[in-house]
Amino acid sequence: MTDKKVAVVTGASRGIGRAIALELGRRGIFVVVNYNGSAEKAEAVREEIAAAGGEACVMQCDVSDYGACETFLKQVIKEYKRIDILVNNAGVTRDGLLMQMKEEDFDVVLNTNLKGAFHTIRFAARQMLKQRSGRIINLSSVVGIRGNGGQVNYSASKAGVIGLTKSAAKELASRGITVNAIAPGFIETEMTEVLPEEVKEATLKEIPLQKFGKPEDVAKTVAFLASDEAAYITGQVLCVDGGMAM
Ligand code: NAP
Repeated sequence: MTDKKVAVVTGASRGIGRAIALELGRRGIFVVVNYNGSAEKAEAVREEIAAAGGEACVMQCDVSDYGACETFLKQVIKEYKRIDILVNNAGVTRDGLLMQMKEEDFDVVLNTNLKGAFHTIRFAARQMLKQRSGRIINLSSVVGIRGNGGQVNYSASKAGVIGLTKSAAKELASRGITVNAIAPGFIETEMTEVLPEEVKEATLKEIPLQKFGKPEDVAKTVAFLASDEAAYITGQVLCVDGGMAM
């Protein structure tokens, strides 16, 4: 149990999710640090939140697994009695050209990035409806808006997240629940670190602010959408991209 607001952040063991967990923890919110494979890194995030005077716990769940998400969120509700904020951050890439893409590469990305968000909303919203309040924040991407060669699977998943966000926002608004999406541009994490230098250089040329983003840039936007200041914002897609999607 905790007296604090409770936030569930999926994929919080690394990258943007880690930064979101730390930012919410700093703001006095109890954070459920979800991970899939990186148990030690997730525990390190929990320790970092605690060292800064915050509170958090670690829970494993593969968000692409519907049944596992049901068990996971039921466990959160059983232990902490409420869910105030759900951040659907967990995501993967399996880049490749359309004509060479294996069916499995399409399915894994859609099942994690899009269905994963559906799964967690499905079970977290049940609790938020009871509370008559809640904040759901989904991680989309600029490529969900603009498309990107070599990413038909990823961009389709992130475009789907925008549709999911707007439809869920309409369904849940009357119960005091807001649903918004954030579309990051190029953020420096392990996901983008692996990209070839020429891709990084070409991308940089497309960013009006002429620099890549940091996980903290996205984390602060999530914290804003989760705050009281954003109470009248729902169904929106906020680009955190240095102007890339303009
Ligand atoms: P990252 O560094 O690769 O980290 C991905 C995170 O997702 C990890 O914590 C990983 O957990 C978790 N994850 C992956 N599959 C999962 C699953 N099935 N169940 C639960 N957790 C899972 O990625 P990132 O760059 O921080 O990206 C975070 C989000 O922002 C993603 O949705 C991504 O698509 C989006 N985004 C990123 C950028 C960018 O430039 N980096 C741009 C636009 C959008 P484990 O390590 O524990 O498996």
